[in-house]
Amino acid sequence: MRVGLFGGTFNPIHFGHLRAALEVKEGFGLDQVFLIPAAVPPHKGRTGVAPAEDRLRMIELAVEGDSGLMVSDVEIKRSGPSFTIDTVRSFQQSLAADTDVFLVMGLDAFLEIDTWKSFRDLLALVPVVVLSRPHAADCSGDRDEQTVHDFIRSKLSPDGTVCEGPAGCKAPGLEPITVFQVTALDISSTRVREWVREGRSIRYLVPSNVRHYITSKGLYR
Ligand code: ATP
Ligand code: MG
Repeated sequence: MRVGLFGGTFNPIHFGHLRAALEVKEGFGLDQVFLIPAAVPPHKGRTGVAPAEDRLRMIELAVEGDSGLMVSDVEIKRSGPSFTIDTVRSFQQSLAADTDVFLVMGLDAFLEIDTWKSFRDLLALVPVVVLSRPHAADCSGDRDEQTVHDFIRSKLSPDGTVCEGPAGCKAPGLEPITVFQVTALDISSTRVREWVREGRSIRYLVPSNVRHYITSKGLYR
């Protein structure tokens, strides 16, 4: 069994998240991908973040009927700020011993990982799959791999890092880090929130049941 953990603020979830999760599940051979909303996003101010229960509920609505995409409330249930290393440990402890756990994140998130709590321990604990994301860096497409390799060499492990095609990068003492290309959908939660505030339509950016939930709860106004 191979399981992906895909964390984020999901404020709100949108089709960029959903396509990325589905494509990494199919293309990287994962049985399940867990979408895990953060309780208190450590890197963001709290203003403008919808209540955790609403962000969780919107993910539930978005993946309704999809047997491979799951929602986890571990970070929301845990008190205090959410740290990915705690989440990975809790999954590794609760899943069957023969389950392979992968940490899934967009390129923009990965390029900040050196600011995360215990990031070296985290990268020694779990292999990472980095998803391409439009405008995440100066470059795009094939050059995402180079961006990731350069980042690993400059910020994580200057010596002994070997990056070989689909096998990804292997740095001494760290689990492999692989770049995975997903359909480039330049959608962000920031833009969804802005457009709601401006009274513009967010149809086709988020699933319709999520759109209706945002309207009925008056979120992001
Ligand atoms: P915000 O604009 O508020 O930062 P966001 O759209 O970036 O929201 P997050 O909740 O911050 O969404 O992201 C959660 C995870 O999903 C991150 O790893 C991020 O890189 C990834 N992600 C978000 N949008 C996309 C997208 N359109 N394509 C691929 N990955 C994405
Ligand atoms: Mg983001």
